[in-house]
Amino acid sequence: MPAGRCIICAAETKTRCSSCAKAGVDIFFCSPKHQKLLWPLHRFFCGPGKANPFKWPALSRAESRHAIDNLDTPPGPHAKGRTCRASTIMEHLRDEAGLPAHCHVSQILHATEPTHVQGRPVEMTAVNIRIAEYRLVRSNTADADLLTLPSLVPPLTYFTQVADVFGVFDLSADWLTGFLHRLSAVSLLARQASIPSFEESEAALLLLLPAHA
Ligand SMILES: [Zn+2]
Ligand SMILES: [Zn+2]
Repeated sequence: MPAGRCIICAAETKTRCSSCAKAGVDIFFCSPKHQKLLWPLHRFFCGPGKANPFKWPALSRAESRHAIDNLDTPPGPHAKGRTCRASTIMEHLRDEAGLPAHCHVSQILHATEPTHVQGRPVEMTAVNIRIAEYRLVRSNTADADLLTLPSLVPPLTYFTQVADVFGVFDLSADWLTGFLHRLSAVSLLARQASIPSFEESEAALLLLLPAHA
């Protein structure tokens, strides 16, 4: 029986996610509590076909509808830097993902579940829509409220943004799958930490205290 460290708190354990083990990757959890903590994010990346190699999920219908509704929405009053470069989500997709402007709605629908289309372009459309969504929310968030920004978007949207900061989307290294699973745990804790009641949360303890010896 393999042993490892809990992906949330680094405690040594022999308990791992059974679905991910079937996919050939070991994701350890010390307790049902820490498994549940990551589940809002891990459910997208759990098990055969998703976990190994790590695969970004298609857009949910709600995400897809929201994106299409906001294709022509300009950035909010707090846009600056990179956010400001694109004036709409559509422009963002055209600039950053190289999508032709005339087919953006069909691209989004193509990347919406239940999609039977596999492959990197579909995966990257979903990624880019989530990054655009984060930028839209960011552009409507005043500087004074930026500490709470991660909690204003869903865990998957925030994780996608964090992965973008690390510039991992063009990599194909053999360590990438393990790295992204660990990054998902870190981004979930960081998002928990951005919730205003952070000081009392367990995420605070996990982020601030050293890992179990
Ligand atoms: Zn743990
Ligand atoms: Zn799993």
